[in-house]
Amino acid sequence: MIQNSFGRRRMQLLRMDQLTRRRQPTPAREVETDLFTHCQACGKSSAKKQWQEGLECCPSCGRHTRISAALRISQIMDEGAVSIDQAAEFVDPLTFPGYEEKWLAAAENSGADEAIHFVRGSIEGSPVIFGAMDPQFLMGSMGKIVGDRVVSAFDKAAEYNLPVVIVACSGGARMQEGIISLMQMRRTAEAVTRHRQAGRLFVSVLSDPTTGGVTASFAMLGDIILAEPDALIGFAGPRVIKETIQCDLPVGFQSAEFQVRHGFVDRIVERRNLRSELAQILRLHEKQPEGRQGPASAEDSAVNFVAESASMNFAETGATEIVAIPDANFSDDGASDLSVSAISDSAAEGPVLAEETDRKPTPYERVMLARDPKRKKPAAILQELCTDIVELKGDRCYGDDPALRGGLARLNGKPITYIYIEKGSNLNSQIYHNFGMPEPEGYRKAARLMKQAERFNRPILTIIDTPGAYPGVGAEERGQGEAIASNLSLMSCLSVPLISVITGEAGSGGALAIACSDRLYMLENAVYTILSPEGFATILWKDGKRAEEAAEVMKLTAADMLEYGVCDRVFPDDLSGLKEQLAADLDIPDFAADPENPAIVRRGEYELRKSL
Ligand SMILES: [Zn+2]
Repeated sequence: MIQNSFGRRRMQLLRMDQLTRRRQPTPAREVETDLFTHCQACGKSSAKKQWQEGLECCPSCGRHTRISAALRISQIMDEGAVSIDQAAEFVDPLTFPGYEEKWLAAAENSGADEAIHFVRGSIEGSPVIFGAMDPQFLMGSMGKIVGDRVVSAFDKAAEYNLPVVIVACSGGARMQEGIISLMQMRRTAEAVTRHRQAGRLFVSVLSDPTTGGVTASFAMLGDIILAEPDALIGFAGPRVIKETIQCDLPVGFQSAEFQVRHGFVDRIVERRNLRSELAQILRLHEKQPEGRQGPASAEDSAVNFVAESASMNFAETGATEIVAIPDANFSDDGASDLSVSAISDSAAEGPVLAEETDRKPTPYERVMLARDPKRKKPAAILQELCTDIVELKGDRCYGDDPALRGGLARLNGKPITYIYIEKGSNLNSQIYHNFGMPEPEGYRKAARLMKQAERFNRPILTIIDTPGAYPGVGAEERGQGEAIASNLSLMSCLSVPLISVITGEAGSGGALAIACSDRLYMLENAVYTILSPEGFATILWKDGKRAEEAAEVMKLTAADMLEYGVCDRVFPDDLSGLKEQLAADLDIPDFAADPENPAIVRRGEYELRKSL
């Protein structure tokens, strides 16, 4: 019996060994002549010059071929990047038969001295430590020298206070170095973690293939994870999985696109855009020029970093005069008095409407206006408010929820994290975005982005238009209630400002899950409810048709929210004044943490402030 299982295990190992061997580097291009290169994927031949101009992507089908570390560095970096690698000295911890010959041959054939290279330089002027793995050197496998170089690169990043970008391309741990290779997973993961704790950025780019011990260590630990189109990304290789489970794998299994759908990759970036996207991300994470430096050593915690830079900013800008915003008049920027007057003592009579009519809409009419499919959506509102928008996807756990979107942007020139709910505009997109009803993955993505914002000391803007959290079997199985509760808890102690704007419906816990903010704004015909008026009437009066009556008694309009102190200010549906208000809010240096400032509302104290 034991003999049998040993035998079976041995056979499995042998088979895996064969499979691994079969996965040794295939040439990026199958047939080459002097002038033409043949594409393995589409079978077409194209001029070599065209391949070069396309950064070694097929001119016909766009396939992204595997490229050397040296070429990658030259494609991404500005001129003048300098190598920071120690010279590679062969190590053979297992004295593995034939390893040295193989290693020397890899060096000879690839022209590289190991499977990863690091340089210090800049991308479109933004300074960075950049590394690229080399598929032509033992399939980019990670042995001790690769581990050493990754750790040393993060040490250099600490020394110079720089972000790190690594383009991964690897078959995984290097078998010939046995357990010493496995330990590189631990070492590199620890190096990334020290870097992140110090408040520095790590962007991981996954190229074809990124598998095994590299996927399961530093490559999946990026603050932001990008991937090249159609790259194979996974832990176990597809052939190993297929042979083990004896089943065919679905089309597209473990592709970059698969990883986005499952929540593990933020963005797919074509190679021709990679340099500019990396530069944009680096710029969005650059510290403010006026001496807002990060911590000098890796020991400083992210919390210290946030507190330090926030207080420095406070001292520099002296922004207290524009802190008392709710009643401030934005005379110099021409914002309308209308929006400013919307918050006033007479708020109980209802907000001032953009187009004053004889009769104000009834509460139920406002519900209908808030739900109007033609109403301006959060995506369009974000476009009006912000520039430099970079969407980030995934909860790093199970999926990417199209109903809840988020990422990086600039508002009034300052980097922010944005989060909004997407209902979709036509039937197809409404179905795709689940009619703006997030699942637990959406709320967990929001939590991930909020924590990221905190690490980089970025304010957060959430824009809300949702009937509520999705009531579904899967959503319950994956913990809808837990996901919402965790977000409420997280938002109660965030150290960065959080501002929410309700632009349409804000249904119950599904809205609150991204709206426990320092400031809550509403558009004049937005509504905020514990549940839909229809649901309210059904539960209380067993008659869903009495929704109009329910809307009257529920107190759900923006004016009601002002009166209760749930909302701080109401803006016309045309958004006038909103951008100026948000810009002024962002100038408040640390409005989540200064209890002495009368303009600052501590999260969770709305009721105390206004109702009592
Ligand atoms: Zn092709």
